[in-house]
Amino acid sequence: MARGKNTFCTWYCTECNKANYITTYNKRGQEEAMKEKNKYCNSCRKHIAHKRKDTKS
Ligand SMILES: [Zn+2]
Repeated sequence: MARGKNTFCTWYCTECNKANYITTYNKRGQEEAMKEKNKYCNSCRKHIAHKRKDTKS
């Protein structure tokens, strides 16, 4: 049993909708900060906003 409540989430490019990153985050506290992130997309070949989608873990 792991301590803490980290939720797995996948980050999708807002332009091509490709799943580019999988990270974990803490739902208590990081919820707001982790709504959207600027990350590099290999398909678009540029930094672009990614939206988060929680995955069950
Ligand atoms: Zn993209």
